[in-house]
Amino acid sequence: MTEKIITFENVSKSFGAITALENVNISVDQGEFLALVGPSGCGKSTILRIASGLDYPSLGSMNTNTKKVGYVFQDSTLMPWRTVRKNIEFLAKLEKIDKKIIKKKANAIIELVGLQDFSEHYPIALSGGMKMRASLARSLVLEPELFLFDEPFGALDLITRGRLNVELMQLYNYKKFTSLFVTHSVEEALFLSSRVLVFSGRPGTIKGEFVVPFKYPRDSGIRYTSEFAELSGEVGKILEKFS
Ligand code: ADP
Ligand code: MG
Repeated sequence: MTEKIITFENVSKSFGAITALENVNISVDQGEFLALVGPSGCGKSTILRIASGLDYPSLGSMNTNTKKVGYVFQDSTLMPWRTVRKNIEFLAKLEKIDKKIIKKKANAIIELVGLQDFSEHYPIALSGGMKMRASLARSLVLEPELFLFDEPFGALDLITRGRLNVELMQLYNYKKFTSLFVTHSVEEALFLSSRVLVFSGRPGTIKGEFVVPFKYPRDSGIRYTSEFAELSGEVGKILEKFS
């Protein structure tokens, strides 16, 4: 049997009089890439905060069996006074990993995300796409078993976003970290994930589930196939109906 990395059982979450989530059930298998799509305010970020242990359900329960969690936000949250390399090494240093090992890992990961030529630069010198690569790299150094992505590419232009989707796909093919990926973009969800949960507007409830039939490793070209367009239309219809 495949191991479950994280499960939400009948989770509801209220903030005072506002119900953000209602009766949400999610389970993510080891190595699975699960996407959550839903309109703004439906509780997607709340789900990730609960998954990371930063917040708690009001009702129901969340269980996870890993402590090695990576969290990537839309804002890259790099420290402006540290170089790319120092930013990438920072979390690992907090974990008190041996300095030599950190250096070695950082070098490999800087190369993996294609930032070799920018490792001694400060964040201000980076494009939006490069900042997200640095942010990913910083989490990758810790070799997370579970990656939480909160609309990581939402602030990027479409071309850069498409490119980073392909790069993330390559990283996933290589590392197979379990992923919970929140996005507004149906296309992004379908390209990256093996399964998509579609949420209604607030209070967020699950209105649809789609298994994505494309095999990994995926080629960027699948986004232009009729099968992809058809699936995208089906997800879009549910989103529109329950927004
Ligand atoms: P999403 O990420 O899908 O846009 P969020 O999870 O950020 O949605 O928020 C869901 C709802 O819960 C929103 O209406 C938001 O205003 C509310 N909310 C989220 N966090 C808090 C909080 N700490 N206090 C009060 N309301 C909150
Ligand atoms: Mg959000």
